[in-house]
Amino acid sequence: MAGGHVGRRAVADAWRRAVHPLRDQADPVTDRAHPNAQPPRPIARAAALHYNGLTPHSGGPGILAMRALALAAAVTGAVASAALPLAAHANGNHAHEAISLRAVAHLPPGPLKALLQAPDLQQALMNGTFFPDGGYVIGHGYGETAHWEPYQRALLAHLGKAHPALEKDPAARPKLAFLFGMFSHGMADQVYDALFMEAGKHYDKAGWSDDLFTSFDTATDVFWVAQAGASPMPEPWLPMDDLRAVFQARGEPVPEATLTDAQQTLAKVILGWPKLKAESKEGIADLRQRYPWAWDHLSDPHEPGNPLCEARVVAAYWQGVWDELHGKPAQLRVLATVPSEGAAHPWPAKVTPQSTLAVVLSRGLDAAKLADDAVTVRDAKGNKLPAKQHLFYGQNSNVVRLLPASDWPVGHKLTLRVAKGIVAFDGTVGAAEESFAFTVGAGPQREPGLPPKGSPWQLAAPPPQAQTPTTAADSGTGGCATGGRPAGAPAVRWTLLVAWMVLTRRRWSGGTSHAQ
Ligand SMILES: [Zn+2]
Repeated sequence: MAGGHVGRRAVADAWRRAVHPLRDQADPVTDRAHPNAQPPRPIARAAALHYNGLTPHSGGPGILAMRALALAAAVTGAVASAALPLAAHANGNHAHEAISLRAVAHLPPGPLKALLQAPDLQQALMNGTFFPDGGYVIGHGYGETAHWEPYQRALLAHLGKAHPALEKDPAARPKLAFLFGMFSHGMADQVYDALFMEAGKHYDKAGWSDDLFTSFDTATDVFWVAQAGASPMPEPWLPMDDLRAVFQARGEPVPEATLTDAQQTLAKVILGWPKLKAESKEGIADLRQRYPWAWDHLSDPHEPGNPLCEARVVAAYWQGVWDELHGKPAQLRVLATVPSEGAAHPWPAKVTPQSTLAVVLSRGLDAAKLADDAVTVRDAKGNKLPAKQHLFYGQNSNVVRLLPASDWPVGHKLTLRVAKGIVAFDGTVGAAEESFAFTVGAGPQREPGLPPKGSPWQLAAPPPQAQTPTTAADSGTGGCATGGRPAGAPAVRWTLLVAWMVLTRRRWSGGTSHAQ
């Protein structure tokens, strides 16, 4: 997600030096043209990794050996010093995968749910779910682009042209599942950043860190693994030709090897690290000491913006995309509100970060065409209450927040109103005013992120709650006064993980050229 460019650039540079020891001078369009680049070639283990007609290839062994050493040294060095800077920018990827899986559970029975829970498509759904962050970890701008709807909806249009039968076409099904993973990621990051992370910045300010291994993102992903369990770590896979064609059409060409390296790093390293860390009682204790509020609220079903809330929003978002794909006209509508319609909002004081209200829209907005009072809160007489409207992340953002200028009045019926005529990035216009009633103070709480009553975004009964922090997990925090990181075994395992990851690097490509 946009923001924090300086810190992210620094960590991206470090990753690039580690992952691309020879690639810094590579041709910007395709490193195959570079004299040091090795042409892809099949490897002996390819058959074992076959997936839906998608064939892995290996890079050159010389490059691999150098990368293994460089990456292992760089990453283990970073573990030792925790010196790499990283601006917090969103969910970790265990959480992202869990959000997609929970969103599938929230979908009502129907063809979309059937598609996204098909066992043979889970690898594609999970790969698409973490794909956008790959650009960040290797310092390429495609990551930012891939987070946002203009790219994602262009990819949807591209797939529709290439495969007119779409979900009925076996070649298109994994590509579609991958893209729904991308939709999940982009929406989830916005909801998390706008609500949960903003609250974390306030409550966990004292321990806040922008270093890679102690950042809020990393810490909350470790917490998620500790509280809800690790998410799948699937073999990397990309619909390579389709992704590259759409980047190319946008004037942002990305080399195949860049996408492959990034996806490999995500699948092995970025998902591997929180899992290792969550297994370390000392590691969790250290991070809990930094982010005690986040630990306590990450799995709270009533906390705005956490993965449980995000999954509800993603399910509603997916359903709208799917319906448009199957003949419904393009719509710009409210997917979810915070608080949910009919709920009591328990945070009246403006100094409390959760006093912020929010609406989540079915399309990213055109910031230049958004009136300052498009989203308002009104009392029973229709008078506007003083508040500041904020389109989180600006252009193409789906989330509009409303920050109170004074404390919200307690015990009165209030209305959150979204004006008619708001405009999306692609020109789609909000056809009708939408209003949602709520109260502030004590009263019935509904889980934030639920679709409004009577909306087309019908959700199934929620899946079981994520496992709450257990006594066993808590016991790891006894005497957590020290901030020392685990040494010895985890560092060795980390080195082995990274070395293995790089030495087994492969290149994945999709499309008809490799179809069986
Ligand atoms: Zn992200």
